[in-house]
Amino acid sequence: MKISIKNLSRKNILLFQEYQSARKIGGIGDIWLNANECPIGLFFNLRNFCFNRYPECQPKSLILKYSKYSQIPDKNILVTRGSDEAIELLIKTFCSPKKDNIITFPPTYSMYSKIAEIYGVNNKQIPILFDKKLDILNIKLHLNNVKLIYICRPNNPTGHIINKFDIIRLLQITTHKCLVVIDEAYIEFCYEYNLSHLLLEFSHLVILRTLSKSFGLAGLRCGFTLAHSDVIGLLRKVITPYPLASPVIDIASQALSHKYIHVMYKKVFVLNQNKLWLLDQLSKLHIVKKIFESKSNFILVKFFSSLNIFKTLWDKGIIVRNQDHEYGLNQCIRISIGTKQECFHLIQVLKRIYN
Ligand SMILES: *Cc1c(COP(=O)(O)O)cnc(C)c1O
Repeated sequence: MKISIKNLSRKNILLFQEYQSARKIGGIGDIWLNANECPIGLFFNLRNFCFNRYPECQPKSLILKYSKYSQIPDKNILVTRGSDEAIELLIKTFCSPKKDNIITFPPTYSMYSKIAEIYGVNNKQIPILFDKKLDILNIKLHLNNVKLIYICRPNNPTGHIINKFDIIRLLQITTHKCLVVIDEAYIEFCYEYNLSHLLLEFSHLVILRTLSKSFGLAGLRCGFTLAHSDVIGLLRKVITPYPLASPVIDIASQALSHKYIHVMYKKVFVLNQNKLWLLDQLSKLHIVKKIFESKSNFILVKFFSSLNIFKTLWDKGIIVRNQDHEYGLNQCIRISIGTKQECFHLIQVLKRIYN
């Protein structure tokens, strides 16, 4: 009898719709504003060219550098292959398939739900209330069998910041019940909102960071998890033996030197300026219905006819991210902040569509 390979797969994988990364969606163009990457690349030299030995699982010197940068003790830091690995590692470590749940707040970064689905872990979705508030009453009702609550702050793709008061309320009602994971992938664009100081007070708080966005190292694949040493200890048991390639450790260590941290903050400043300019320009266009307030390096924009606009930009080689299919985001497009020239070019093209 001929057996189809597909029959060997877990059933939920057959039904699973994979995460559509910006790279998978593709496009042909010269202006890439679809993955929230830093538009300016940096150049590094490898300091070691010999690769016969395995790297350290948790490279001490890199962790000490991140400790110095983040002001968080090294025992509270885990380094991973991008923060996407940490999102998965948390589910692998804390959630039993078909039993435990996670909570997410749509519209948000969809990797939380995608990874949960792969592992057979149910995702209870609780929409954000107006005015960036958490629906605390509703969350309280749904805490049964919940192990992880993922909050993206600032949120991708809307750019909003859930208010700190609600986060503290959430931490209070979840003590001894589950972990609260705050994804701070974009925190350097609004560092005054970072919550790492709460780690001392709440042992069930987990903070995710990455070098992919503000540091401009999306291609490096390096992220950091900040948490109580008990949480870090469990994650260290589960993580693969060699999660980071030696060149990644080398370059990440260089990127966390005083000099490059300074470069990073200068780039953040410039991108935040570009964002203000772009906001001002977009607000004058009649094709724009609404602009979401963003603390991040992207802006979510609601148009009157977003699919048209997406297609026109695409055809002109300006690749942005369509969000029309996401919860509550019909007619919305997410635009990453590019260089001043890229922002300028985008506005020129949008003005021509309107005329
Ligand atoms: C880009 C992004 C990540 C992924 O970060 P990597 O470190 O590149 O894996 C995680 N969370 C959010 C919210 C993001 O937007």
